[in-house]
Amino acid sequence: MTRHFDLAVIGGGAAAFAAAIRANDLNAKTAIINHGLPLGGTCVNVGCVPSKTLLWAGEVLHLATHHGIPGITLDVASFDFASVVRHELSLVQKLRAEKYERVLSALSQVTLIDGRARFVSPADIEINGDRFSADKFVIAVGSTAAIPSIPGLRETGFLTHIEALEVAEQPRELVVIGAGPLGLEFAQMYARFGTRVTILQRGHSIFPRTEPALTAKLTELLRHEGIAIETNVTVRNVRAQDGHKVVSYSTGRPHGVEIRADAILLAAGKTPNTKALGLEAIGVEVDDEQAIRVSPDLRTTHPHIYAAGDVADLPKRLEMTAGKEGSLAAENALTGSTKSIDYDAVPYTVFTDPALAGVGFTENEQMKRLGVCACRTVSFEDVPKARILNRTEGLIKMTIHPETGQIMGVHILASHAGELVAQAVMLVRNRNTIDDVLESLPMFPTLSESIKLVALAFTRDISKVSCCV
Ligand SMILES: Cc1cc2nc3c(=O)[nH]c(=O)nc-3n(C[C@H](O)[C@H](O)[C@H](O)COP(=O)(O)OP(=O)(O)OC[C@H]3O[C@@H](n4cnc5c(N)ncnc54)[C@H](O)[C@@H]3O)c2cc1C
Repeated sequence: MTRHFDLAVIGGGAAAFAAAIRANDLNAKTAIINHGLPLGGTCVNVGCVPSKTLLWAGEVLHLATHHGIPGITLDVASFDFASVVRHELSLVQKLRAEKYERVLSALSQVTLIDGRARFVSPADIEINGDRFSADKFVIAVGSTAAIPSIPGLRETGFLTHIEALEVAEQPRELVVIGAGPLGLEFAQMYARFGTRVTILQRGHSIFPRTEPALTAKLTELLRHEGIAIETNVTVRNVRAQDGHKVVSYSTGRPHGVEIRADAILLAAGKTPNTKALGLEAIGVEVDDEQAIRVSPDLRTTHPHIYAAGDVADLPKRLEMTAGKEGSLAAENALTGSTKSIDYDAVPYTVFTDPALAGVGFTENEQMKRLGVCACRTVSFEDVPKARILNRTEGLIKMTIHPETGQIMGVHILASHAGELVAQAVMLVRNRNTIDDVLESLPMFPTLSESIKLVALAFTRDISKVSCCV
């Protein structure tokens, strides 16, 4: 007999969990079906949590010898890569148990089904040969590392983020293909552990989506740490030779270049996991990149089927957007509401050190969308706390509407910029003006004063103000 649910959520990551929790709140009989990654999906198992744990280990190692305080010499007596990775994996296990397995067991309306789901009709799915039906569906099956079509790549072998977070032996030389958040974070983490890292980036800049002055500065800082960064790269082919991997590429110069490494890490985007879901047969459309097309209220081209998270053709692919989308998709599916997300107020962060974070328009985007812009950039040299910490390398840029003073975007390159951007998120989301910021009293001395200083820069020369003005 076919088992029936009010809602079937396919996937077991951030989007699926949020959908199941919301459905449970709404007292809907719900199935959550996961296969592939363990419960929790990408973020906790092979994404945010393990990568940030290793990045922090690299930061601690780096700070020990780069704190800049005369009179303190800290020798790193030993560095044991395998222990650092073991620590990371044990944290993953703990958080998976606390934040996913235990949470799921407390959802009285939700049944976990272990297996790969495939649609056999718009109302039925097949899992391990059994049929299940539901009134509504949320597809939240995530994405997998994209494998670029480079001749020789598959035969030679490569790492994705999954293997790179659990390798037993540290590579001595690593080539990272791609300079988005993932590529930059892995590059710096491994470089700080002592691996020689080269980043090959197809575009003209690392992380081209943000303010060019900030990415130029981050490029300079990463190069200064010893990471080779090549831009405008076309990777020609990859081959194995004498126990190494040889990557052959060109950068527009007349001669091609070859580089040898122990490992190649792919960080060239992710492909939505839509292939084996049987979507064609039930009229759920995907775009050219295999992402499920959804309307702002997360409905697919089939009225009873919603999609959320990395699998959907949505503007941002992040843990917290996946969670919010999952929750809204379940609510919209079960109640008929049409809630959506304002993606303009969603931040991004590249968790390098310094980190690159921002929210809202860049200057270029604002000019394209509104045709007017005023902006200021302030160096962290002008932020007293950054002087105290010897972390003055960063920049903060704010864009406003020149007539109203409304804050349209804030982009920050600074130590732990991902923490600072939280304040900017509220300013952009609540449509605050620079006057609102100037009336506020941030704690002195803190890095978050940088937001008041950049707002102040619209009205006066900040090199001529004292602390706390
Ligand atoms: C290395 C790395 C670092 C990251 N760091 C950050 C960060 O710091 N901050 C941030 O916000 N985001 C980060 N992200 C992005 C974030 O992890 C993802 O956007 C988010 O986890 C996507 O959640 P999801 O629920 O859409 O998919 P997933 O978490 O991938 O979950 C999908 C689940 O569905 C399962 N599945 C697939 N097909 C089927 C099927 N047919 N049937 C049943 N189950 C199926 C999968 O195995 C998986 O368990 C990072 C990503 C990576 C790779």
